[in-house]
Amino acid sequence: MIAEIDLKKCIRDIADFPKPGILFKDITTLLKDGKAFAQTVDALAQKYKNEKIDKVLAIEARGFIFGAAVAYKLGAGFIPVRKKGKLPAKTTSVTYSLEYGTDTLQMHEDAIKSGENILIVDDLLATGGTANAVAGLVKKMGGKIAGIAFLIELVDLKGIEKLKEYPVYSLIKC
Ligand code: AMP
Repeated sequence: MIAEIDLKKCIRDIADFPKPGILFKDITTLLKDGKAFAQTVDALAQKYKNEKIDKVLAIEARGFIFGAAVAYKLGAGFIPVRKKGKLPAKTTSVTYSLEYGTDTLQMHEDAIKSGENILIVDDLLATGGTANAVAGLVKKMGGKIAGIAFLIELVDLKGIEKLKEYPVYSLIKC
């Protein structure tokens, strides 16, 4: 058996980025390590391999890196959720509160068929606002949320409480 990599050690902490007081979890140090990246994608895909996932939906931009790879592994489709104004066809939107102000995310309105089994993937769970907003969008489109998966969960921020009604999984808890 090949030794498992401690993925937590592959993530770099950057203090005061992008603004003072934020401890940014930099995943580029994990991504540049081929074995660590493969182990991450394999572990996420393994968790959902029996869940009959139709489509993996991931959130711009870092969510795309893991979401697309997991979709490929599961033989599922991939749905990009993007910042406002980036998608070319007709979209459906969700606007949600951030610490200061609001943000809007969009997906194509024909991305999900009613009743499809959807796995949401993002790199990191902080306050849970982003994932909760996107989960609401999936439900509005008639999708069934089979799971919400993160590489990293910042436990102290209690984002999991906003996602109580969904099955949430995180590979690394910090
Ligand atoms: P939230 O909506 O508060 O759960 O924030 C989640 C989103 O913000 C994710 O898409 C992350 O990429 C990003 N994010 C929030 N906090 C951090 C952090 N400390 N380090 C890296 N990314 C973060």
